[in-house]
Amino acid sequence: MTETYDAVIIGTGQAGPFLAERLAGAGMKVAIIERKLFGGTCVNTGCTPTKTMIASAHAAHMVRRAADFGVVNDGPVSVDMKLVKSRKDAISGQSRTGTESWLRGMKNCTVYQGHARFESAKEVSAGSERLRADRIFINVGGRAVLPHMPGIEEVPYLNSSSIMDVDFLPRHLVIIGGGYIGLEFAQMYRRFGSEVTIIETAPYLARHEDEDVSTAIREILEHEGINVRLNATCIGFSKRGEDILAHVDCASGDPEVSGSHVLLAVGRRPNTDDLGLTNAGVAVDKRGYIVVDDQLRTSSPGVWALGDCNGKGAFTHTSFNDAEIVWANLLDNDPRKVSDRITAYALYIDPPLGRAGLTGEEVRKSGRRALVGRRPMTKVRRAVEKGETQGFMKIIVDAQTHEILGAAILGTGGDEAIHSILDVMYAKAPYAVIQRAVHIHPTVSELIPTMLGELQPLSVAAAAPQ
Ligand SMILES: Cc1cc2nc3c(=O)[nH]c(=O)nc-3n(C[C@H](O)[C@H](O)[C@H](O)COP(=O)(O)OP(=O)(O)OC[C@H]3O[C@@H](n4cnc5c(N)ncnc54)[C@H](O)[C@@H]3O)c2cc1C
Repeated sequence: MTETYDAVIIGTGQAGPFLAERLAGAGMKVAIIERKLFGGTCVNTGCTPTKTMIASAHAAHMVRRAADFGVVNDGPVSVDMKLVKSRKDAISGQSRTGTESWLRGMKNCTVYQGHARFESAKEVSAGSERLRADRIFINVGGRAVLPHMPGIEEVPYLNSSSIMDVDFLPRHLVIIGGGYIGLEFAQMYRRFGSEVTIIETAPYLARHEDEDVSTAIREILEHEGINVRLNATCIGFSKRGEDILAHVDCASGDPEVSGSHVLLAVGRRPNTDDLGLTNAGVAVDKRGYIVVDDQLRTSSPGVWALGDCNGKGAFTHTSFNDAEIVWANLLDNDPRKVSDRITAYALYIDPPLGRAGLTGEEVRKSGRRALVGRRPMTKVRRAVEKGETQGFMKIIVDAQTHEILGAAILGTGGDEAIHSILDVMYAKAPYAVIQRAVHIHPTVSELIPTMLGELQPLSVAAAAPQ
């Protein structure tokens, strides 16, 4: 028998449950389907568990640094990985069960558990159930990519999900991939006490960042004893006794890295290959991302795609914003759109990187005349007082319109301080608004106006300081 709804939502990630609440609150009969863990990636294997573990790693780091602050701690520092994991499981579990009970208690909303698949543009199966709706919303997220690397099937490996079950200290964690996920795990495990090597095919870590940001990130990680192998060509694996050998063949250094565990962090792919999208006439691009317009409508009328699976963002805040865009258009007669969104994210190494808008390289490629301001964290009193002077901040403004084009704050509090810049960008206000604002002393943010008072032309050549 087919049950008919006003709206069916597939997936309980960072868009689905909030959208369910709005649609159900508007009086629609809603069904939401989850095949695995309520709350999706962020809650179970993404943001929440990683940031919880990063907090444990930070505590270990600060205990080791105690003497820098005049605090006496004579004993050896050790980390109990079972306790780290149970703290992480408790915090993540709270969010998961909170999401599930919220959905189950939601008026006008029915929860189904099972793998959802389109049978037609208006019909979805969930296990043995069949649901019909004129509006179907896809929020299926993504999963870690398994790279085609020689020998990968012959060795044990972890990915960002399976590493969540680790409750011991890997002797030497070899991380394939120097992107955001790889870097966060690298510093975290180094601080727990593992030897860590990052292997990256590109000449830079965090390759989407400007070279100066990427170089500073590398220096921060190397300063903590993390081995970084860039320009790795032909990565492959084999076993040597208990160890796993990663063949890297870099231009310099040993062509092999021998480790106890391997973490694959080479990217993510959307969960769209087993959704029956062709039955619904929903088009995907060549990487499997669902093609959507500026209001997240797919090629099939009455079907929307939200979150990581549409390729318009890969963050919790972008997925939630997708939900806001959809309900604004459907319920509030408010034509919000994806292109109103300004790129913003953080990389949660310590110190963190907060990013907003374009990179220097993107501005350069756009051909715009621009000005750049830059300040090292050694010249930020708050950072000096906290004993956390690594990194720098920079801001880029349009030389003609004086609007802020982008910013990076790699330094203590950078993940928070970036928001004052982001908000001025959303206001489309000239940079003088923030330059003339009086910020609180002592904060990292108080140096943003100062930095804006020292703008210089952005060099045309990429190799110059950006
Ligand atoms: C290690 C890691 C760290 C991260 N850290 C951050 C961070 O600090 N900040 C940040 O903003 N983002 C972070 N992210 C990204 C963030 O987790 C995602 O962008 C976010 O969860 C949004 O995902 P989503 O809403 O698209 O779907 P997801 O959260 O992935 O949820 C999709 C849900 O759909 C379900 N599903 C899939 N297919 C089906 C089906 N056929 N039938 C039924 N159910 C289905 C899945 O089981 C899942 O529960 C991180 C990701 C990882 C992997």
